[in-house]
Amino acid sequence: MTDQTDTIARLDAFLDRTADERLGDYVEFLRIPSIGTLSEHDADTEAAARFLAERLERWGLEHVEVSPTGGHPIVYADWLHAEGAPTVLVYGHYDVQPVDPLDLWVRPPFDPRIEDGRIFARGAADDKGQVHLHAWAARAWLEMEGRLPINVRYVFEGEEESGSTHFDGWLRDNRHRLSADLAVISDTGFFEGNHPAITVGLRGLTYLQVDVTGPDVDLHSGTWGGNVQNPANALARIIAALRNDDGTVAVPSFYDEVRPITPEVHAQFQRLPLDEAEFAAGIGVPELFGEAGFLPLERRGARPTLDVNGLWGGFQGEGSKTIIPAHAHAKISCRLVADMDPERTFERVRDAILAVPVPGVRVDVRPLNHGMWSLVDIGHPAVAAAATCLREVFGEEPYYLYEGGSIPAGASFGTILGLPVALVGFTNPDDQAHAPNESMVLANYEGGARTVVRYWQALADLPR
Ligand SMILES: [Zn+2]
Repeated sequence: MTDQTDTIARLDAFLDRTADERLGDYVEFLRIPSIGTLSEHDADTEAAARFLAERLERWGLEHVEVSPTGGHPIVYADWLHAEGAPTVLVYGHYDVQPVDPLDLWVRPPFDPRIEDGRIFARGAADDKGQVHLHAWAARAWLEMEGRLPINVRYVFEGEEESGSTHFDGWLRDNRHRLSADLAVISDTGFFEGNHPAITVGLRGLTYLQVDVTGPDVDLHSGTWGGNVQNPANALARIIAALRNDDGTVAVPSFYDEVRPITPEVHAQFQRLPLDEAEFAAGIGVPELFGEAGFLPLERRGARPTLDVNGLWGGFQGEGSKTIIPAHAHAKISCRLVADMDPERTFERVRDAILAVPVPGVRVDVRPLNHGMWSLVDIGHPAVAAAATCLREVFGEEPYYLYEGGSIPAGASFGTILGLPVALVGFTNPDDQAHAPNESMVLANYEGGARTVVRYWQALADLPR
């Protein structure tokens, strides 16, 4: 055996013999009802931050701090003595979702229950379990070896479930002490069937509202119909102009910066088992619909979209009322992929809307919010290293996932700190995060700790 396999064996042995203590500590962490969105739980959320900070400090991490943000604090800790080795910024969150409807929980959400190899509690998977296993992976290294093979900075947030309100501000204020080579986010999980996976992509967003204004008040359609532009008809005309029948977006230049799906990436998408008919039936639609020439999961993860999210105007009551409405409105959003710019996409969609010929009404388009996409190349050495460790611990080749949604922090690490982001998470896909009876498979949790222990070594071994 080489020195390194010796080291990993010692760390595994440490994790084996501390499994009961770790589980007890995990249970204790889960007992704290850190529901960040509810102000009556402010003290609990703070208590979860302190719980975490206390462990990190006790286990040998440095500069441990419960750092104020204006909202719930960020728990920061680091260990920076691996000279010449890479620095990894690890992200997770200690706040949890609210628990209602309470009556659907088998046991109260903060009274953890262990059954069938799972631990059931709010936050077990999202995201306290993942934060906790990271802390224990660091403990294993520091207690057994007196060192970590890389430099780490932990950034554990308390506002993930309430929109990460103060996160970007904190990142900007602390940028000077957050230098790193890579961000590792552990707030995602495995693929359907509990197969290990690395999430490499998240989509961004641009969200806008369209207001079409006509006459001062609703008009009698008998008296005025034929002489005024109808704002609802005009809005329908506008929306129809934004998309082609084949599902592509008809906004000029919309796709100009979209990064093409390479054959290598396409091959990864093809590996993902997906039964299209089942996928459609699961949501009650007769068939899937989207851009031709792409797999459904490609359309979800690696292609942009334009969707109407809400549409209103005119008479909505029972029966009929013959009016020409005074105004009509739509909320529209686009999911964005690399290398689209949210701002520029907004401008293009706005210009396309304003170019639709609808005389006789006023059309206003305003941005509501933007979010950046995040994407790390599946060939990135840090991704390959994570894959190797997952394979070693879980015994199968991981999948690479491109998620359709976003994690605000993922984009912030890219845009504010300029870091590549690898989303290495360990939760079982049936974890019921955000729902009653949330659970984490204990083998995923334990395997997660062992994967992280290996991952730090694998990153240290990368050629610099
Ligand atoms: Zn989460």
